[in-house]
Amino acid sequence: MQTDIIIVGQGISGTFLSYYLQKAGVPFIVIDESKPNTASKAAAGLINPVTGRRIVKTWMIDELMSFAKEAYAEIGKELGIDFFSATSIIDFFPTPQMRHAFLQRLNEDKEFLELPDDEDSWSTHFNYDFGFGKIEPVYLVSIAKLIEAFRKKLLDQSNLLEDCFDIQQLVLLENKIQYKDIIAQKIIFCDGVESFQNPFFKNLPFAPNKGEALLVEIKDIPDDLIYKKGINLVPLGDHLFWVGSSYEWQFQDNQPTEIFRKRTELNLLDWVKAPLKIMEHFASVRPATLERRPFVGFHPLNKSIGILNGMGTKGCSLAPYFANQLVENMVHRKPIDASADINRFEKTLGRSTIS
Ligand SMILES: Cc1cc2nc3c(=O)[nH]c(=O)nc-3n(C[C@H](O)[C@H](O)[C@H](O)COP(=O)(O)OP(=O)(O)OC[C@H]3O[C@@H](n4cnc5c(N)ncnc54)[C@H](O)[C@@H]3O)c2cc1C
Repeated sequence: MQTDIIIVGQGISGTFLSYYLQKAGVPFIVIDESKPNTASKAAAGLINPVTGRRIVKTWMIDELMSFAKEAYAEIGKELGIDFFSATSIIDFFPTPQMRHAFLQRLNEDKEFLELPDDEDSWSTHFNYDFGFGKIEPVYLVSIAKLIEAFRKKLLDQSNLLEDCFDIQQLVLLENKIQYKDIIAQKIIFCDGVESFQNPFFKNLPFAPNKGEALLVEIKDIPDDLIYKKGINLVPLGDHLFWVGSSYEWQFQDNQPTEIFRKRTELNLLDWVKAPLKIMEHFASVRPATLERRPFVGFHPLNKSIGILNGMGTKGCSLAPYFANQLVENMVHRKPIDASADINRFEKTLGRSTIS
């Protein structure tokens, strides 16, 4: 079988890469084994324009947000499902210091931040001592639904091989590659944390970060807003909330831990006044990077081998934007943003074994 591109992995990165290749009319095949606890399946799907203790704007957020709005609207229209919605975060200040940081930021720049007229207005639903602010707009992506719907489309079009990709069977030919009976011009790895072991890319400065979350049913609070007080309560519909997450740089495995569950349950009971029921507990590892920028582009020693990875905590906004850049690079030779292009690691990647 002959194709132009093999994509390994159909998380949010592989999904958008296939989507833009398809739009550009480039033939491709995706190989994905549908692992149960991938980062994309564990994600809340939040696109939050501000971050950190100082509540500053996140990297490239203006471009990323406006691109994401169009990308999700377009793919949703094509699949006949709405995956994208605008909402707000009700940000309960956990400490006087966090309240101070919010007010200071509001003084400097009002974009995305607001202080309510009545700071008691949520007191029937939540316990909080230091007031709250509002972050708006934020966006929510139904990421699991999107991946599932796009997977069905790929299967219907015979663009998906449901299989575990085995790198031992990849053969590099001149200006092309062979994987089992498939010959292609390029292979692009969108395999999330699996790329940490990939012989071509394992020297990239990945920084795996584990996250855990709970699925909780809370019937008596409005389920169209996101609530935050140290942890996020993200509405998924039908009174179900995604509750998380942890950010662990040191961890033993990708499994849920009792310690997270107990700590989060206690936090919830202390904060939320309505009765709640824990339905599920899950964990995954984010394909994060040391300098918090994605890895996009082609290997300096072999332009047939590419990567779209390193989305870290922001796959929902970064993946559509950089998948499109990668396709524009392949089809129209447009440059990839220098802070995302893996050519910034030319020396490090030059030490890989390519054979
Ligand atoms: C708890 C948690 C919460 C998060 N919340 C958010 C959020 O609210 N907003 C946000 O923007 N980001 C969030 N993230 C980050 C986001 O999930 C990631 O940035 C993003 O999902 C990475 O997507 P990916 O497609 O690159 O990798 P993945 O989602 O890991 O996808 C990789 C794919 O490759 C496949 N694969 C791997 N190896 C093989 C193989 N050998 N053969 C075949 N297939 C293979 C896997 O099955 C999988 O389908 C969160 C992450 C976690 C863990």
